Amino acid sequence: MKKGLCVYPGSFDPVTIGHLDLIERGADIFPEVVVAVLHNPAKEGCFPIVQRLELLARACSHLPNVRFDQFDGLLVDYMKKLDAGIVLRGLRAVTDFESEFQMAQLNHQMAPDVETLFLMTAPEHAYLSSSAVREIGMFGGDIAPFVPACIVEDVRRALKP
Ligand code: ADP
Repeated sequence: MKKGLCVYPGSFDPVTIGHLDLIERGADIFPEVVVAVLHNPAKEGCFPIVQRLELLARACSHLPNVRFDQFDGLLVDYMKKLDAGIVLRGLRAVTDFESEFQMAQLNHQMAPDVETLFLMTAPEHAYLSSSAVREIGMFGGDIAPFVPACIVEDVRRALKP
């Protein structure tokens, strides 16, 4: 199992500067990071998966050890497929803790040799989520402070009321 291969799973619908901060910090720690977009057929989401991947790739083009993929089904099965040893997740507030704790425990039970590591949010991003960005954009607010500069126009266009 590759302990240097870290998977950062999430919806990234769309990627925010909070996600980007976590990806940059992960890429500093691990030789290789895979940002994996969960394709949940029961939850279509707002941005198509292909566009989420495209926006992620553009926002992370300065990070040579980061690549992008999509997966469906169980995260532990995807980890096995990649032979990856580390799951990276972010914690924003105490409200994140309960669901993240549950997910990490269940994953540990199913795949004991996979570790889940948490990075604390940077305080300036503690309030930030993709759903907040979608809401602000759909109501015509300015999303520029919340997403990477190189994707602002695309996100703005996609959410335009
Ligand atoms: P999910 O729908 O799986 O929660 P998200 O795309 O919302 O996926 O988030 C993926 C991961 O990134 C989660 O671990 C989440 O806690 C973390 N994350 C999201 N926004 C931030 C932020 N502003 N600061 C730090 N971590 C964040």
